[in-house]
Amino acid sequence: MDNDVRCAAIGEKYFGAGRHVRNVICITLGTGVGSGIFIDDQLFRGPKDIAGEIGHMTMDPNGPKCNCGNYGCLEAYVGAPNIARRTREAIMAGEPSVVTELVDGDLYRITPKIVTMAALKGDRLARRIMQDTAELIGLALANVVNMFNPELLIIGGGVAQAGDLLLSPIKQTVKSRAMREHAKMVEVVAAELGEDAGVIGAAWLNYLSDAGLMP
Ligand SMILES: [Zn+2]
Repeated sequence: MDNDVRCAAIGEKYFGAGRHVRNVICITLGTGVGSGIFIDDQLFRGPKDIAGEIGHMTMDPNGPKCNCGNYGCLEAYVGAPNIARRTREAIMAGEPSVVTELVDGDLYRITPKIVTMAALKGDRLARRIMQDTAELIGLALANVVNMFNPELLIIGGGVAQAGDLLLSPIKQTVKSRAMREHAKMVEVVAAELGEDAGVIGAAWLNYLSDAGLMP
């Protein structure tokens, strides 16, 4: 797990949306996609300290190449640069979209924030890109929910600033795709700490390590 993702997950678990819950998965959506898995209040690290790589869950073995060298990983679709790439490719293939105007015709300036703005204006392509993004994230999370039976999923990171545009279809997909007993109990919420989550998590880790206690 990359350190930023870990710190943000720890911040949210102990001081944000997860503070009253013991079994929590915190997913961070940004340039990369990662997660922190908390089981009975403990961060699950794995023997090499690299557990939680939800971004590299294979969604389609024949999908686009991912940064990790594999193909069709979740991150290869929903990492921030890949949300931009999918939008750009659709426009280059001829789909009309207000995104083109929002970037003054320079399709390499597309960001998830711009796609979100276009979707909120009702742009059909942008809405579809965001819907597909949410569904892929929801599918990956449904798999994780079936494995770990968490009480809470926290959705954070820069891309999550799209708010309900992403959160509602993520929630819907998790609820419809996870096994019934899992789906019934799991709650899906937005992160509470925003960009401060990482700093708060890092400070807490430092404090614990000085005190000789690691979470
Ligand atoms: Zn990957």
